[in-house]
Amino acid sequence: MQQSKIEGGIENTFESEIKELRDRIDDIDEQILTLISQRFAEVQKVVALKKRHNMPVFHPAREEDMISRLRDSARKRQMDPDFIEELYRVILRNSRLHQTVEMKQQGIKPGSKVLIVGGYGQMGSYFAWFFTTSGYEVRILSENNWDKVESLCIDIELALISVPIHVTLETVRRIAPYLPPDALLADITSIKTEPLNEMMKVHKGPVIGLHPLFGPTCSSLDKQIIAVTPGKKPEQYQWLIDQLTLWGAIVVNSNAQEHDEIMDIVQGLRHFATFCFGQFLSRKKIELHRTLEFSSPIYRLEMGMVGRLFAQDSSLYAEIVFATPLRRKLLKDFVLSLNEQIAMLDNNDKELFIERFSETAKWFGTFSEQALRESTFIINKLIERF
Ligand code: NAD
Repeated sequence: MQQSKIEGGIENTFESEIKELRDRIDDIDEQILTLISQRFAEVQKVVALKKRHNMPVFHPAREEDMISRLRDSARKRQMDPDFIEELYRVILRNSRLHQTVEMKQQGIKPGSKVLIVGGYGQMGSYFAWFFTTSGYEVRILSENNWDKVESLCIDIELALISVPIHVTLETVRRIAPYLPPDALLADITSIKTEPLNEMMKVHKGPVIGLHPLFGPTCSSLDKQIIAVTPGKKPEQYQWLIDQLTLWGAIVVNSNAQEHDEIMDIVQGLRHFATFCFGQFLSRKKIELHRTLEFSSPIYRLEMGMVGRLFAQDSSLYAEIVFATPLRRKLLKDFVLSLNEQIAMLDNNDKELFIERFSETAKWFGTFSEQALRESTFIINKLIERF
């Protein structure tokens, strides 16, 4: 009886102490929410100011300074700087997304007429939505209304070509005679040299080549990269770059040749190698699900990348892989280079393997450390979630 009284007493003390602690934690959570909402209100003021001055949403230097400062502050408080950085990256992204939504409605030239050639396609309709939301008058030229091309081109500020790669050049040639002399001619083709040359040849007015490095499933342009290949009359195309930046995109400049060489690797080789790997697994009739049951996180991540390719539109990837003769030559070189490994395997030559491994590691240099850090971050996220 006495014991249970004591136990009851201990229980009561425990219950009241934990309740007190939990109440304090709940209070702190309330305060955190109040502070986040106050922070949000201040951000809204920044948005309003940026809107008035047509300034972009993302300010990389400011964000990085802020993260460094917060990491220092965390260290001084004996807190884990990685945790604080992660927390703030989420807060900053959320605030950027809100800003991007607000800015989306902001047009640099609202009321101007924009003609999107191929505007019912995936990317065409994606950009049509952005222009419409920002107050532009959007017109669409599709395969079926070329008989109206003359009237569709009247008074347009911009003609944006968004047709499949293999019909881009003929489309540029076909529309050129109808363009007002001062209209901006732009394209979003995934290759740049030939389309840009053709646009420069057929149009006297301003010209610019764009390549959005993302697909139409991205809900926002926040931090999305758009490659820009300058054409002519920059003073007359700058407004389009400003508009893209205002929507949250990051613009990367290059000349068309450099862009295409880089895309041979970033898109051509990357997707082709993934295609070959996936096809090899399927031909070997590998039991994918069983392998995943035994998998290390890195295998799961790799399979995520491979599986992702095959979940998408084959014709889009065919366009990318077969884009130019130069790209196809590079892909052939890649396949031939695999043959070099056959003799090494036949000869059971581990030394050669180690030698090639070290040479390649040397070539990767400091990027290897960055790659390890970034992929570890992604793997940890994957483990947290799945
Ligand atoms: P899509 O096939 O979805 O759209 C192309 C549209 O063009 C279709 O509606 C088609 O009917 C129309 N079209 C075809 N011939 C035409 C013609 N002669 N006149 C007018 N319209 C015509 O293709 P998409 O994925 O939107 O790609 C369009 C462009 O965007 C391509 O150059 C591609 O390289 C580039 N791009 C695509 C992506 C992507 O992820 N989809 C990303 C970046 C860039």
